[in-house]
Amino acid sequence: MLLVVKSGGQEAMPEWQSLYRALLPELEVVGWDDPALDPARVEYAMVWEPTPGRLAQFPALRVIMSSAAGVDHITRDPSVPAHLPITRMVTPETEERMADFVTAASYGIVRDFPMLREAQKERRWDESIVGRRASETTVAILGLGNLGAACARRLAANGFRVKGWARTHKQIERCESFAGDERLGECVSDAHIVVNLLPDTAATRGLIGNRFLEALPRGASLINVGRAPQVDLRAVVESLDTGHLRSAFIDVFDSEPLSPDDQMWNHPKLWVSSHIASAVSRKSKARQIVKNILADRSGQPLEHVYTANLGY
Ligand code: NAP
Repeated sequence: MLLVVKSGGQEAMPEWQSLYRALLPELEVVGWDDPALDPARVEYAMVWEPTPGRLAQFPALRVIMSSAAGVDHITRDPSVPAHLPITRMVTPETEERMADFVTAASYGIVRDFPMLREAQKERRWDESIVGRRASETTVAILGLGNLGAACARRLAANGFRVKGWARTHKQIERCESFAGDERLGECVSDAHIVVNLLPDTAATRGLIGNRFLEALPRGASLINVGRAPQVDLRAVVESLDTGHLRSAFIDVFDSEPLSPDDQMWNHPKLWVSSHIASAVSRKSKARQIVKNILADRSGQPLEHVYTANLGY
């Protein structure tokens, strides 16, 4: 059983090997660039941005496993054999960290942390910055998959009023579910906070633009922790500047890392973070890969398989 790894570079290999040795000693783990790698023996590949053409050269390959949540870095290579399952990297830690981040950002918004910081900078004792209560705050989550559902449960447990939108109807306790394009407006019409946790597909690209933002109540905030192409950042900045949007937390960008010259770093109503909303540990990733390898070995269904015709 051989797993080839391209994730974190050559310097990450000792850590990967030690993690996998502890979890599944019979698994042989070899680096992508290791000259000793025999392509004929590779059965599993854990990859980030695999060199185009290379996956097609492993004749015994059974599963391609992304070492990140997205798989576009794999699917953009037309030579990747279409019959092979591709799994996304989603672990219990991914869900926990995402729920932590989105809940923290939501509290930062309702308790006006940016305004408190400004007051502190000016040494101004300001008893007017009292914010609002979670229980009078509606959060609309776009995408109720692994991460959206985890955020919905955590926000609801913290007393927020939670609504969520997906392609199909969901049953999540204390989360009002809306399904399909025709229900999107209803989902966000009274939202104080909109959280984007949609995948990047032809249907979601550019969804959060001028029209979408104008339909939000004045004073709403946006948290984008999904993917960058869904959000028109120019429209977001315009809306912040007119005062329609109150604030925006942006964790994902079209071009990463965001250039140090980018205007967004300085925008007073924008919180920029470095795609860290849910950066999970290698230990958690290795556990997930082993879980799927064992499922494959025993003929059980794999977890978090990418569905090509849906694009996520
Ligand atoms: P997922 O399980 O695939 O869930 C995607 C959700 O979006 C599903 O509920 C799906 O609806 C819904 N959806 C897809 N297309 C739709 C459409 N056209 N209209 C309405 N709903 C639609 O994904 P996930 O694991 O939760 O990940 C969510 C996002 O987070 C991804 O974009 C991922 O890349 C991103 N992410 C970000 C970070 C970070 O650190 N910032 C870390 C990890 C992941 P159905 O359930 O009805 O199919």
